[in-house]
Amino acid sequence: MPRYTSFPTAAEFTPEVGAAELDRGLRQASGDVSLYLHIPFCAEICWYCGCNTSRTNKGERLSSYLDALSREIALVGARLDPGVRVRRIAFGGGSPNALAPLDFVRLVDTLTLQLPLYQPVLSVELDPRTLTADWGTVIRCIGITRASLGVQTFAPHLQAAIGRVQPEALIAAGTQLLRAAGVTG
Ligand code: SF4
Repeated sequence: MPRYTSFPTAAEFTPEVGAAELDRGLRQASGDVSLYLHIPFCAEICWYCGCNTSRTNKGERLSSYLDALSREIALVGARLDPGVRVRRIAFGGGSPNALAPLDFVRLVDTLTLQLPLYQPVLSVELDPRTLTADWGTVIRCIGITRASLGVQTFAPHLQAAIGRVQPEALIAAGTQLLRAAGVTG
């Protein structure tokens, strides 16, 4: 069964859409566009998760993914019409805050250098369990204004049952950190 967390779903992929079609699609893009960047890593894997993600316990995989992502950003940037303006960027996963804050800053630098950003609205999915003070600084400096915290339940026995223990106080502290960093939604 396809899961409707993305469109088109993997079930719709066919050989009719390949590199040539992607290339053409990128070159034909015009006006205001939005970007989604997938960070397929998490500090821990929740037992119920169906996302495309894996644990950040292998540094090599993580850095080779970030290298490939940087190359892809450059390839995309080289194909965009000069009139294109990137107005929204969503960082999802996985949990983008499974990355080291410095790696995330480097990723945003690459986007800034390679793509025609135009005062984009920035949003990020976050795991409250790894939302450190460093992340607050990064979020404020980059200007991220929207965040999504994964909170499936506040009930401790259910959190234990689904393999995602994050006490209410931790979630509240994460929310406070985000507000102090300028996140408004
Ligand atoms: S933090 Fe989110 S993406 Fe990562 S394993 Fe848990 S549910 Fe899946």
